[in-house]
Amino acid sequence: MNSPGDASLPPLQAGTLYLVATPIGNLEDITLRALRTLREVDVIAAEDTRHSSRLLAHYQISKPMISYFQFNEAKRSEEILARLARGEKIGLITDAGTPGISDPGERVVKAASAAGFRVESVPGPCAFVSALVSSGLPTEEFHFCGFLPHKSGQRKNKLKALEPIPGTLIFYESPYRVEKILEELKEIYPAREVVIARELTKKFEEILRGRPEEIIAKIQNRTLKGEFVILVGPAIT
Ligand code: SAM
Repeated sequence: MNSPGDASLPPLQAGTLYLVATPIGNLEDITLRALRTLREVDVIAAEDTRHSSRLLAHYQISKPMISYFQFNEAKRSEEILARLARGEKIGLITDAGTPGISDPGERVVKAASAAGFRVESVPGPCAFVSALVSSGLPTEEFHFCGFLPHKSGQRKNKLKALEPIPGTLIFYESPYRVEKILEELKEIYPAREVVIARELTKKFEEILRGRPEEIIAKIQNRTLKGEFVILVGPAIT
């Protein structure tokens, strides 16, 4: 295994898109390789440059940045591809976690790999992995579902369609729809064990466990704030 500062560490390769995982809350959750990669790339492509500049400032990394929001992603992909074609090394980061998991990084990777460019992952934090391993639910088999659609009918159809899937189901959800998803789970999966993983790696990290109805009762007099992963255990047969 390489040690930090090891001269045998391979140099970054020209014309490569590096997918660099960043913390999901705790600034210490970043790997040595991620920091070295961010220091050595030619440019950092960030979902939101203002958000990411706090992380980079914390580690005294000063690099040119380009932003790619969901809205201008298609155009930015073109710019990223042109830069890769010129042999630039690009570090792609998102607001949190592993680029490409339920975030706009996915489209940039598709475009770069379809154009034949080298794509390399610099692994690190990912919210659903942290949530799954601390949930107490089965980890051997699981299905990551990302975000449900916004419309009620589509959400319910999606939840029902997932019923025959074995293993733990994992969802990302906005704080505004946590109560909504719990009501939907109460209706569709009343007997399953549900886990809510809130604010992982942050000061107010919290894990709530129980049947949907029990969790609803637990949070009845609270306003749940922050970021959430929702997990649904498999049907007990
Ligand atoms: N790429 C990221 C990853 O690797 O997990 C996910 C990006 S997605 C746009 C953001 C969602 O991830 C949030 O809405 C929430 O569901 C989940 N998430 C991110 N950070 C979290 C945290 N600290 N605690 C709980 N959930 C988190």
